[in-house]
Amino acid sequence: MRVTAIYPGTFDPMTVGHIDVARRASKMFDDVIVAVAASTSKSPFFSLEERVEMATGILSDLDNVTVQSFGGLLVEYAKEAGSKVIVRGLRAISDFEYEVQIAGVNRHMAPDIETVFIAAAQEYTFLSSSIVREIARLHGDVSEFVHPIVIESFTRRHDRALHEGNV
Ligand code: ADP
Repeated sequence: MRVTAIYPGTFDPMTVGHIDVARRASKMFDDVIVAVAASTSKSPFFSLEERVEMATGILSDLDNVTVQSFGGLLVEYAKEAGSKVIVRGLRAISDFEYEVQIAGVNRHMAPDIETVFIAAAQEYTFLSSSIVREIARLHGDVSEFVHPIVIESFTRRHDRALHEGNV
């Protein structure tokens, strides 16, 4: 039986930390769906379409990884996708409390779906999408933290803002 895992997140934008988790998940499971959450309550910087497009380009070298978008409850999406495994990345104790809480709620709603945690690589434990957005907003160099595709998207955004006189 093939095991499909879902790696959900907002990916606003995808960082090298996320890429590392997706890459490692792709070695552990037959298929991995990177599920980009609409996360409307977070008011993401990049649109859902942009986040999906970036993630698709970034992960295109991983044959068993596909990128999709979803809204609503993750466990419902997982059931529809025929997946019994949810992958989440853990950076520090600060992630732990929230992640275990979510995993508990998901298990309550869907007892046959397991959450698997992948520990962040040591060099990426400090890295988050919000830190990358903040550095980019202040015109700092984020090239160590994200794929060139993300840099292009930031540049496009910046150029558009300049054009519209919002900078
Ligand atoms: P969410 O809004 O669901 O928290 P994120 O896009 O912020 O989505 O993160 C998705 C998942 O990736 C989460 O499990 C998060 O803990 C994990 N993650 C975020 N940054 C890193 C990183 N630098 N290394 C490993 N995992 C990470």
